[in-house]
Amino acid sequence: MMNGNGAPHDDGVADKVAGEKFDVVVVGAGLAGTAAAYLLATAGLSVVCIERGDEPGTKNMMGGILYRQPTEKIIPGWWRDAPVERPIVEERMWLLTADSMLQAGFKSNRYAEEPFNAFSVLRVKFDKWFAEKAVAAGAILITSTVVEDVIRENGRIVGVKTGRPDGDVRADVVIAADGVNSLLSKKAGLHGERAPNQVALATKEVISMSREKIEDRFLLNANEGATIEIFGDSTMGMLGYGFIYTNRDSLSVGVGALLSDFIKKKVNPNDLMERFKAHPMLKKLLEGGESKEYMAHLIPEGGASSMPPVYTDGMLVVGDAAGMSNAIYREGSNLALASAKLAVQTILEARERNDFSARSLSRYKALLDDSFIMKDLQMYSRTSGYFQGKSEFFELYPELLVQAAHELLTVDSVPKRDKQRRILRQLLGQRAPWDLVKDSLGVLRALT
Ligand SMILES: Cc1cc2nc3c(=O)[nH]c(=O)nc-3n(C[C@H](O)[C@H](O)[C@H](O)COP(=O)(O)OP(=O)(O)OC[C@H]3O[C@@H](n4cnc5c(N)ncnc54)[C@H](O)[C@@H]3O)c2cc1C
Repeated sequence: MMNGNGAPHDDGVADKVAGEKFDVVVVGAGLAGTAAAYLLATAGLSVVCIERGDEPGTKNMMGGILYRQPTEKIIPGWWRDAPVERPIVEERMWLLTADSMLQAGFKSNRYAEEPFNAFSVLRVKFDKWFAEKAVAAGAILITSTVVEDVIRENGRIVGVKTGRPDGDVRADVVIAADGVNSLLSKKAGLHGERAPNQVALATKEVISMSREKIEDRFLLNANEGATIEIFGDSTMGMLGYGFIYTNRDSLSVGVGALLSDFIKKKVNPNDLMERFKAHPMLKKLLEGGESKEYMAHLIPEGGASSMPPVYTDGMLVVGDAAGMSNAIYREGSNLALASAKLAVQTILEARERNDFSARSLSRYKALLDDSFIMKDLQMYSRTSGYFQGKSEFFELYPELLVQAAHELLTVDSVPKRDKQRRILRQLLGQRAPWDLVKDSLGVLRALT
């Protein structure tokens, strides 16, 4: 537990804030919550951030790619000081079948230089550093404390109830930054439980490995990083994908799929992970590594169409709590940070009017709508829904593409035109022409 002086603190901090009134209470010290606390404290507001974990980062899970530019909008030059793992210089995409892999990728030396594009991070380290910045700016951080409910007066939210005795904390505004399962927005009546087809469930392991081995195996220069996103056989026909990201001296390895697919297919997420790691194309990359950490976490799916209202009288909802996640581009951290910044802007404007009503706080939604956040979430709001239940995209099409590559690249004295005809016959043998047209148009509509 830490106080506004940046010093570790005893439980007395929690006791002192109980019953106090602050300008803002932030619930959750993840990326969104800490960014909001940092910006509010920097602007001179009294802010308390309440986190259920023993330390920020201990309850958080992310594949691990944090983007430089959106984070710079919170703390300029952050990456020079923050515990980042490796700048990402290469992004690969693999399409797996049981015994083959088709790949595409992009590598740029520009990404190896300042100002960089993205970094791999481990949240346990990063969130702790980030929270220390917020505390140094003047925010009060209370850890090991669960927020259990909102406090309402005359229909307006005026604070939160924590699990501590006499643990009520009051504020002009509450920011719900409590992640994908946001208890707070449920308690505020903004939404119910997320349906199993509105969330993905992912497991992740951190596998330790020497720097040299990582650089050899992933063909990287010293301290450079790579990502591999892995589709097809990795999810046994379920809507999802796997990944491998390189850290300094470990790999982040994960795989996830829509929760409703796990239920329907009766697949155990742990079994999916073991099967994933044992795939012949992955095994060699992971060989000799030692598993250090194992986690599971939900990811909001569905884009704009599955988002709850993001404001009400006395409360704003940010980041994953508001369902802000763009799975197509593996973006969530940047949406969390950017939404926190817009929430802070809204609060600063509302203070000038001394009006924290829903009407006044609706400015937040207008700012979101005008930003890349809602533009992207609206653009991809059909994606998850379109691919749901269409296992052909995760089984049949990867198989057909791999077969086509196999056919074209196997040198067997067959003329190339005959090979092209064979590929077409294989394709039409598996999928009617009308279905192929429908699928192509469907994918276009879902992704553009
Ligand atoms: C497997 C996986 C891989 C991902 N990979 C990437 C990636 O590579 N790049 C990327 O940009 N995004 C990625 N994401 C998404 C990204 O992790 C999230 O979008 C981001 O963490 C959201 O930040 P947040 O602050 O909104 O929520 P969180 O980081 O989840 O923080 C919520 C915080 O609230 C706390 N909390 C919850 N309830 C309470 C309560 N009642 N009282 C007190 N505290 C509470 C939690 O302990 C937690 O610290 C990934 C997600 C997963 C699951």
